[in-house]
Amino acid sequence: MSLEQIKAAIRDVPDFPKPGILFKDITPLLRDPALFREVVKLFVDRQRGRSIQRIAAIESRGFLLGAAVAHELGIGLVPIRKKGKLPYETIEQTYELEYGSATIEVHRDAFEPGESVLLIDDLLATGGTALAAAQLIERLGARVLEIDFLIELAFLEGRAKLSRYPLFAPISF
Ligand code: AMP
Repeated sequence: MSLEQIKAAIRDVPDFPKPGILFKDITPLLRDPALFREVVKLFVDRQRGRSIQRIAAIESRGFLLGAAVAHELGIGLVPIRKKGKLPYETIEQTYELEYGSATIEVHRDAFEPGESVLLIDDLLATGGTALAAAQLIERLGARVLEIDFLIELAFLEGRAKLSRYPLFAPISF
C-alpha cells in the first residue's frame, strides 16, 4: 500500500460547501478497510515511542483519524469542537475565516498542565483552525508536540501560520 494509492482514493468535490472550493473528500478512503488501516498506520508508526500524553482532534473529520490513532497508541483523546457542542465548561478561541469568523471550544479540564499533546486534523488549508486549536491547548497549560494532518493544500501556505510547530502531512496537493 503506497501513499499514491491513498492519494488516489481522495475524491475532489468541486464547489462544496460553497462555489470556488475544491473539497477533498476522504470518505472513499475511510470506507476501504485496507486504506483506512494504512492511513492510521502512517500516524501510528510516526508517533509510537514518542512522549505523547494526549491526542487532541479537531471536529469533525479530525475525530475520525484522531480517535483511531489514539486507540491504537493507547493514548487518551480530547475533542476540540465547534462552539456550542461540548456539554461541560469550556474555553473558546475565535479565528478569522476568509469571510467572517469561527469559534472552537475545548473542555477546561481537558489537559493536565505541562502535558505533551499531539494535535490531529484531516486537512491543512489556511491553518487558522489548527492555530486556534493549538492556542486552546496552550491556554490550558499543555504543550503542542506536533500537528499532524493527512492532507496539506500547500498552495494555501497554511504552514507559514503554524511555523512555530512541527508539522506532519504525508499527502500534499
Ligand atoms: P483551515 O483553517 O483553513 O486550515 O481549514 C481547515 C479545516 O477546514 C479542516 O478542519 C478541514 O477539514 C476543512 N477544510 C478546509 N478546506 C478544505 C478542503 N478544500 N477540503 C476538505 N476540507 C477542508
